[in-house]
Amino acid sequence: MTLLIKNARLLDMIGDEPNVKDRDILIRDNKIAEIKENINETEEIGKIIDAKKMIVMPGLVNTHTHLAMSVFRGYKDDRSLMDWLNNAIFPVEDKFEKQDFYWNSYLSCLEMIRSGTTTCNDMYFGMEEIVPAIEESGIRAIVSWCITDDSVRDKPEQTKKYAKLFNNKESRIRVYTSAHAPYTCKPETVKLVVDLAKDLNTGIHLHLSETVDETNIIKTKYSKTSTEYFKDFNVFDVPVVLAHGIYLSDSDIEILKNVKGGISHNPISNCKLASGICDVTKLRKNGIKVGLGTDGTGSTTTLDLFEEMKLTAYLQKIKYMNSEIIKAWDILKMATIEGAEVLGLQDEIGTLEVGKKADIIIVDTGDLIPENDVATNLVYAVNGNNVVTTIIDGKVIMENRKLLNSSFEKVKEEVIKNAKRVL
Ligand SMILES: [Zn+2]
Repeated sequence: MTLLIKNARLLDMIGDEPNVKDRDILIRDNKIAEIKENINETEEIGKIIDAKKMIVMPGLVNTHTHLAMSVFRGYKDDRSLMDWLNNAIFPVEDKFEKQDFYWNSYLSCLEMIRSGTTTCNDMYFGMEEIVPAIEESGIRAIVSWCITDDSVRDKPEQTKKYAKLFNNKESRIRVYTSAHAPYTCKPETVKLVVDLAKDLNTGIHLHLSETVDETNIIKTKYSKTSTEYFKDFNVFDVPVVLAHGIYLSDSDIEILKNVKGGISHNPISNCKLASGICDVTKLRKNGIKVGLGTDGTGSTTTLDLFEEMKLTAYLQKIKYMNSEIIKAWDILKMATIEGAEVLGLQDEIGTLEVGKKADIIIVDTGDLIPENDVATNLVYAVNGNNVVTTIIDGKVIMENRKLLNSSFEKVKEEVIKNAKRVL
């Protein structure tokens, strides 16, 4: 299949500042084959999309999700993390049946596709149902079975089975393993997860240093920080995605400087649960990669990564009381190529270059005039509704706001029906 995007205002996310160029983009199968001015419309081309001078940029990378949690949107909101988890979320999750995992996840995938996210990194249970939803939606994803002390069961075996199926360069889905958090994983569980990751030559997705409560629990139990706790069991020998990273000491940052992977920053979730402010500026200054994430819908309410971009900028500026501390271009990088680096996918996605996978969004910024700074418009003024077309792995998944392979209405109907049973 060959696809041609004509009349693009290309923002390839390469370089130290925005540089928009008028280009056409040729996609052959799932990769970008050519980028230049005026590509001829030959017979080989199966489909032409006229970008009509709109911004064409890499799809956004959401580095931390719990896809099946879409049913928790607004459910028993405005509580602290531990109260919310123990008294609102965990009792309902126990009632989940197969169809809940599938339809809830499908809804999350479609919400992301509709708001410009083309890759996500998911941690949950029920992956047997979540993977088909990801496959059918068309999104790119890393998946991991969430392992805690109370829920090891057959997850290592399932992880092995799915890693064997999916962990190759051409697959749109990859498999990591996961240790939920330091407060839900005792040393034996962490060791099991590290051995599993090493055995499968894959990475680990974890929650790290999310709240003061967590910091105190781990300090009391082990006389360590969460980072030291994980380091002592060689977690950082393998690639990691560390969600949150709010309460990191200077010595924790020293430890994390050399990790493969990086931090997933989830500012809306962190604000809504009053968890704290991640020092993104300090982490990046120390060479630690920081991508953006939404967390589950229950804690963010929206999976629109453009909203996370805005808040990332605002929080750093206020934290430092310095408007120059972070620039819109830095934020866009975090949402694209740096997110890809956190997931170890930087050779495949995150910028628009010949040879990379064709994960591309077309964004209508036409009303945002004058366009003095394209990065500023994208970060501070655009939201997911400005995304017109989403292409993932060379396939057009949404065109002119219409999903081509999925029925958004049918998915919403199923989620509403199932919500009545579980909530
Ligand atoms: Zn999370």
